[in-house]
Amino acid sequence: MLEQGTISIHTENIFPIIKKSLYSDHQIFLRELVSNAVDAIAKLDMVSRSGEYSGEIGEPEIQIAVDKDKKTLSISDNGIGMSADEVKKYINQVAFSSAEEFIQKYKTDSNQAIIGHFGLGFYSSFMVAKQVEIDTFSYKEGEKAVHWTCDGSPAFTLDDSSRTDRGTTITLHLMEEEEEFLEPARIKNLVKTYCDFMPVPIKMDGEVLNKQKAPWRESPNSLNKEDYLEFYKYLYPFEEEPLLWVHLNTDYPFIVNGILYFPKLKPDVEVNKGQIKLFSNQVFVSDNCEEIIPQFLLPMRGVIDSTDIPLNVSRSALQGDRTVRRIGDYIAKKVGDNLKELYRDDREKYVGAWKDLGTFVKFGVLNDEKFKKQVQDIVIFRSTYQEESADTTTVQVPTEEGDAWQDVTPANKLPYTNIKEYLERNKEKHENRVFYCTDEAAQATYVELHKGQGLEVLFMDSFIDTHFISFLEREYTDVKFTRVDSDLDNTLLDQEKDKEIVDPNTNKTRSEQIKELFEKALNKPKLNIRTEALKSDNPQGTPPAMVLLPEILRRLREM
Ligand code: ADP
Ligand code: MG
Repeated sequence: MLEQGTISIHTENIFPIIKKSLYSDHQIFLRELVSNAVDAIAKLDMVSRSGEYSGEIGEPEIQIAVDKDKKTLSISDNGIGMSADEVKKYINQVAFSSAEEFIQKYKTDSNQAIIGHFGLGFYSSFMVAKQVEIDTFSYKEGEKAVHWTCDGSPAFTLDDSSRTDRGTTITLHLMEEEEEFLEPARIKNLVKTYCDFMPVPIKMDGEVLNKQKAPWRESPNSLNKEDYLEFYKYLYPFEEEPLLWVHLNTDYPFIVNGILYFPKLKPDVEVNKGQIKLFSNQVFVSDNCEEIIPQFLLPMRGVIDSTDIPLNVSRSALQGDRTVRRIGDYIAKKVGDNLKELYRDDREKYVGAWKDLGTFVKFGVLNDEKFKKQVQDIVIFRSTYQEESADTTTVQVPTEEGDAWQDVTPANKLPYTNIKEYLERNKEKHENRVFYCTDEAAQATYVELHKGQGLEVLFMDSFIDTHFISFLEREYTDVKFTRVDSDLDNTLLDQEKDKEIVDPNTNKTRSEQIKELFEKALNKPKLNIRTEALKSDNPQGTPPAMVLLPEILRRLREM
């Protein structure tokens, strides 16, 4: 059998175009060819399961080999193979026309990087090869092995192959400037990047190059804490252990799998750059998902895998895509659900993680209306409120090793509360006011004064809290948010109903007395001390204002 023909295509010579238009990313040919091999193995499994094929399947595997003398790179699989008719149909007709279509699409978007360069498929081999050969032998009874060859022009040759085992080998005759792909180290690297989680062993020189197992495709019930932590370490070997994770797993109305982790945020780390890896059916697509997930989720890490995300479109087209937006919403909702669940079921863990989680959640509340509705009641603040029972005053945080929880030091031994609980608890006394402190050290005196009055103060001292307070003011229009060091006359003194009663000993009203003491304290140099220091019995070497403070408090309490 020898057949020669022309592939129906309007472009005279496809390979210079393919090469030129995709120049920056030509290494993806390997991903395309290996994923075709994985598909072929999966298809064989399907025909075998359905009973259509009753022959041996053998151990599925993909072999990559280089021949430095012949300057060839080959990818072999023991999958389903192709008959001569199938080569004509799937390679000559379909592939060329889809490649052409792809290039047309790509051209109009030439100033936009295409997210995954998916869709070019088999023909991406012409980005690196001047000639491509296919040797393939179908699983189908009565079919002959076929050999196809093409040099990138629309002319192809189809003839018999000497191949005797089922499956397909694609042989690339590399162009001179692409001989880097003859280096095993280069190939191993590419397999690690693009094919690590493909479910078939990919071998080179007898060595298996890929991990194969994709934990995000497993059922969440089958994974334990160690599995999730191990996977995180695998993805980000130099990172600290994550705080929490969310396993995404849905197939309706779209397919999304993935595991997203909340990392321990380091303040100096740029969080605006996405670090979630995007996969399509376990094939690596991109190192970030910035166009897919809502911006406030960008600090998260991990993996999203969805075949419903269009990949052969520009990044801007992706952002406008309706399904992509819905997937983004789904992910945000799932993250919110998980946080709420943790808040409800394991408050200690939630509070322990809050130091790192808080900024992230607040940012989400400020930036995403739906997320706000979902989680605003689980935004918590450290508070001066002390309850008698021990468990609310004990906060747990992860140990350094991260695998256990420990009680924190007394300095942090303060409970956390949300605004609703705060308002409810202080309904009588506060008259719809929320007192907050933005700088624990500088405002320590004021915090103590409020506490002395039995007023509860919230610590809103992270950088995002400034914005969050404005948000709260808009949300709770009938509540007055008062910083502890502002408006003292109103917050402290007007509070006292009997402030005009004259003290017979000093002949001053109580409010005058308080004011006097307080001003004495304030006239001293600006305090820069910690709350614990204020409480110390023997404030050796401390500024005079601090020595005065216990006295101020004592008198306040006595009134
Ligand atoms: P896609 O994978 O999106 O279908 P490709 O251009 O990558 O597009 O491949 C075109 C077709 O060629 C495949 O759908 C398949 O039918 C066939 N094919 C490619 N590689 C192989 C292979 N290794 N084994 C069997 N069939 C293959
Ligand atoms: Mg393909």
